[in-house]
Formats: sequence, structure tokens, C-alpha cells
Amino acid sequence: MFDYLIFLIPALFTAILLVALIRKFRFLFETSSLNKQAAKEIEQLSAQLDISNTMMDVLLSAASGIIIMTDQFLQVQHLSPQAELFFDIRSNTGPKATLIQVVRDHRINDLAASTLANKTFHSLEIDYVHKSRILRVECLPVQTSNDQPYGTVVAIEDRTELKRLEIVRQEFLNNVSHEIRTPLASIKAMTETLASNSIDNPLDRNDFLNRIIAEVDHLTVLIEEFRMLSNVESGGLPLATKTVTMKSMVVATINRLQAQATAKNIKLVFAEPHDNKSFELDPVRFQQILANLLENSVKFTEPNGSIVVTTSISTNVISVSVKDSGIGIAAEHVSRIFERLYKVDSSRNSSGSGLGLAIAKHLVQTQGGEISVESQLGHGSTFRFSVPVTKS
Ligand code: ADP
Repeated sequence: MFDYLIFLIPALFTAILLVALIRKFRFLFETSSLNKQAAKEIEQLSAQLDISNTMMDVLLSAASGIIIMTDQFLQVQHLSPQAELFFDIRSNTGPKATLIQVVRDHRINDLAASTLANKTFHSLEIDYVHKSRILRVECLPVQTSNDQPYGTVVAIEDRTELKRLEIVRQEFLNNVSHEIRTPLASIKAMTETLASNSIDNPLDRNDFLNRIIAEVDHLTVLIEEFRMLSNVESGGLPLATKTVTMKSMVVATINRLQAQATAKNIKLVFAEPHDNKSFELDPVRFQQILANLLENSVKFTEPNGSIVVTTSISTNVISVSVKDSGIGIAAEHVSRIFERLYKVDSSRNSSGSGLGLAIAKHLVQTQGGEISVESQLGHGSTFRFSVPVTKS
């Protein structure tokens, strides 16, 4: 085997040397009758282009956005890794594709064509149906140093999440103003009626006054809950842990809600009254979360129903579930009820601010825990939350 390597290695070496020599002095053969200087410049230019191409690949591979570079015929020259991923392109697949083959959307292709034709920046926002995403597409013309069109750079930003947040923010602001305007309007109407002395019956006057007090109370609770939510969200509530037993906390919270439950003849029970294990956790937060869930269960369970609180512990995580036999929540609302101000019954007259679950969710999350719900319309709901704790 080694015998023929003795001939092969020098032969290969000579061949490589020959190719290198031919490449280096190619212009002597090719341009003997033409301007040798021009040929040399072309050679240098092509070398520079090679370097630019390599640099472009390196730059685009470092870019974090979706970027496509085309030539003046809208043939794709370079793609950032994100662009390959987004448009499902496997690198090194055959000859260079055209822009339309890559993006499969004539609006992006037309934008690049207009950019080339007008040599100016163009942009647009599109609903990209292939992936159900909202995209902002920006297109820049690329010219050579002597103002000749070279191609375009297409930069794409996925704005789907941003749009969703914009809608959530807008909805939230609308809800806040509605939530405050409605009680204020009825307070104004009732005080105006009282001020006009048009109600003679003292019982009716009392009824008006009580309704005004109820509206003011509702506004006070709403503002207090906003303050609470903003405190939790901004991290303004420091964790204050203590050694507590599960039983003491659950029983104390149940006791706070027992009167409301009894008034509706709802059976409210703790399934493990003998659980005396103790933990290090923030009792105020824990009770607030549980109270918010229990308040809802009492509110959304018909008279004579039942609510059961169950607790469990596994490797330093306590889990609590609140199961009620209430009205349940339809599937389309389940994913939204933890949003601020979201109420299933969107008529604002329903009692409650729609902030209770948002507060509970933040209180759970700021302790590194999780909260979830399982529900079936007409068959009750089970809310579960778990938080990490240290055993004492
Ligand atoms: P609210 O002040 O309206 O109770 P929450 O944020 O606590 O606000 O709850 C949001 C919405 O979720 C409620 O308006 C209600 O429609 C629904 N909900 C919460 N808990 C329950 C439950 N146990 N049973 C049925 N629906 C519930």
C-alpha cells in the first residue's frame, strides 16, 4: 500500500502546484491581447468580493434577526440563521433561490422590487398567513460604490407578541376606565336625585344612601386591589417568611370565609384537618392567595353546594387545591381568567373587580410557584397552586 503512495504524493503535489500557478498567471494567457492592468483589477475585485461574501455570511450568522440579502434580480445571496429557521430553509440546498421562493409572499417580494426600482427604503406590516404571525418588513436598497444597484436587504421583525401585548394593554385601560366610570356615574345620578329633594319617602332615601355607600366601598376595594397588584408586580412586597403549620393557615383562612359560606348554606371544609407539619413560608401571602380562591368559590357556587380544600407536600413544595361544586367556567374563558380585570360575566354590574385571580397569580409567581385551574361549565372548578417551602 505504501509503495504506490511514494508515487501518488509527489504527483498530487505537482498537480496542486500546477493549478496554483495557472490560477496566479491566468490573466497572462487569457488577456494577452487585452489590457493586462484591467484583468488584474478584475482579479483583485473578485478576491475582494470573495472576502465581502465571506464577511457578509459571518455578519449575518451573528445577526439575531430575520435578514435576507438579495442581488438586483431578487435572487437570495445571504440569509441569517434566523431567516433560514423562520422560512424553513435548509442551508446548502441546491442553487440560490429567488426571494419569492424563500418568503412565499408576494407582498414581501413586491416591497423588495419597489425598493430596487426606487432606490429608497420601504416598509410594511403584514399578516403572514403561512405562520399566523404579524411581521414588519423593512427593505433597504444596496448600491455599489459607483451608485449601481447591487440588491436589497430585507429585514423582518416578528411583531406578533408585541401586537398581542398592545391589545391586552388597550383592553386593560378600557376596562379600568369602565370599571371606575360605572360606579362614579351611578353615585352622581343618585346624589343628584337626593339633592333635588324629589324623594320624599325616608325608606327610599335610605336605600339610595346605602347604594351610594356600596358603590364607594366597591371603588375603595378596587383601588386597594390595584395598589396591591402594582405592589406585587413591582416587587414592592418583600417576602416575610415564618414557621407555620399548614393546618393553622388553612383553618384561619377558612374561618374568615365561613360566614359567607354558611349564609348560602355551602359546606366549606378542609380535607386534612390533622396535618400538623410545619414550614417556612410567607403566611400573609399564602392566606391571601387561598382567601382569593375561596372568596370566588363561595361567590360562584350556588346555595347548598360544597367547597373542599386539600393540601399535599412533596419534596419542599406545598400544593393546595380548592374544589367547588359551582357554576364552572367555559373552556374559552379558562385561559384568560388570570388576566387583570377579566371577568367571565362581562356585564360590569357583576360584583367583583376581576383582579382577585391576577393578584393570586402574582403572589404565587413571586414565590416561584405555579397556579392553574381545571373547570367544566356547570360542574364546578378546581383551582390549584403550589409554592416552594423549606421544612422547619
Ligand atoms: P372577581 O373579582 O370577578 O372574582 P377574579 O379575578 O377573582 O375576579 O376572577 C375572575 C373571573 O373568573 C370571575 O369574574 C369569574 O367569572 C371567574 N371565576 C373565578 N373563580 C371562579 C370559580 N371558582 N367558579 C367560577 N368562575 C370563577
